Amino acid sequence: MSQSSLIVAKFGGTSVADFVAMNRSADVVLSDPNVRLVVLSASAGVTNLLVSLADGQEQEQRAYLLDEIRRIQYAIVDQLDQPDVIREEVDRMLENITMLSEAAALATSSALTDELVSHGELLSSLLFVEILRQRKVESVWFDVRKVMRTSDRFGRAEPDVALLAELSQSQLAPRLQEALIVTQGFIGSEAKGRTTTLGRGGSDYTAALLGEALQASRIDIWTDVAGIYTTDPRIVPAAKRIDEITFEEAAEMATFGAKVLHPATLLPAVRCDIPVFVGSSKDPAAGGTRVCNQTQNPPLFRAMALRRKQTLLTLHSLNMLHARGFLAEVFNILARHSISVDLITTSEVSVALTLDTTGSTTTGESLLTQALLTELSSLCRVEVEENLALVAIIGNNLSHACGVGKEVFGALEPFNLRLICYGASSYNLCFLVPGDDAEQVVQALHRNLFE
Ligand code: ASP
Ligand code: MG
Repeated sequence: MSQSSLIVAKFGGTSVADFVAMNRSADVVLSDPNVRLVVLSASAGVTNLLVSLADGQEQEQRAYLLDEIRRIQYAIVDQLDQPDVIREEVDRMLENITMLSEAAALATSSALTDELVSHGELLSSLLFVEILRQRKVESVWFDVRKVMRTSDRFGRAEPDVALLAELSQSQLAPRLQEALIVTQGFIGSEAKGRTTTLGRGGSDYTAALLGEALQASRIDIWTDVAGIYTTDPRIVPAAKRIDEITFEEAAEMATFGAKVLHPATLLPAVRCDIPVFVGSSKDPAAGGTRVCNQTQNPPLFRAMALRRKQTLLTLHSLNMLHARGFLAEVFNILARHSISVDLITTSEVSVALTLDTTGSTTTGESLLTQALLTELSSLCRVEVEENLALVAIIGNNLSHACGVGKEVFGALEPFNLRLICYGASSYNLCFLVPGDDAEQVVQALHRNLFE
């Protein structure tokens, strides 16, 4: 349980995209004196540009990407009352990016990628401190890598939670008494001091980890939508905002592809029971969604999430008939390739599964490598189907209530269901459909279950 009134506020890429957005986010910070720790993403678009640079580019493309980054960040610098104060430091970072991108053009590496990509958050946090300063608010820029110690799994590093707590208590907690602190999401450092990243979208996770380490009273995630909706409003305009949702439900949604929260975000919040608020920095008055331990009258159907680009592996083994150990063998191989299984169904002689792509790596490389396929093929016949979509219905008590089947499958009559997972968790019911049908499936189900 929290021991303080501290609120950790995280602002996503669109909330720090430009001068206007940064000032709106500053308004949000200043509207509550309990917000004393601010965690920022890179300005919208910058991480993608940096990832492209890290891939190693020809001179001309490199110049173009660097120009784009410079343009986004200088659009903010130029609107400051005293742009000169910060120019030198921004230029120094841009020079670093240039140097590192030249190195990446010669030889890429995951360590170099993380070093390069970290500059998005370093820049946005630097600019935000200056925005605050010009508004006569003193704040301190803090390099989160001093406390966010991680493994050296570059691109998808795991935080050392115990060390983070210890370092946050000694290095951050005392400063929070004195000043507003602005720091970076997404980035960390491994034991040798090299920069790491937590995987794409990892800033939410940073905010939650810091909230846990500092025993905050709340973690606010400010983004460009006013909370969590019954489903993506871009697909279903009739989607409704959910005012209160439990950790379990929200975690299911994040895991199954709702883009509002990074899937790992809620783990620290759940561990220490800190409520998470999700709102829009563009329109804070519109309210948002509170994610907490318990809600009143949990509904049978809460929400729906859609995850595209799913790959289904079907493994056929004739030896599996009455055999033991085939699944163990399959899981062993997957474990050796650091892959966790997402959905799975089995029959007597085959098993069908999808790979868990949760918190994909910073560079987004595929989990399904040739090495993995080769190894699986030595065991059984492997069939790979791409371009499927996973639709997940999130709810409560799903596997024990009656009538779920009729409500759900009635709406799905015109569609092909490639695989169904139901019964292992009472919080979700998932299935795979052809990628091209995904939106129609979601629309039809939403009509049946939520409208
Ligand atoms: N800037 C990083 C990304 O785009 C981290 C984040 O935004 O959460 O993935
Ligand atoms: Mg983000």
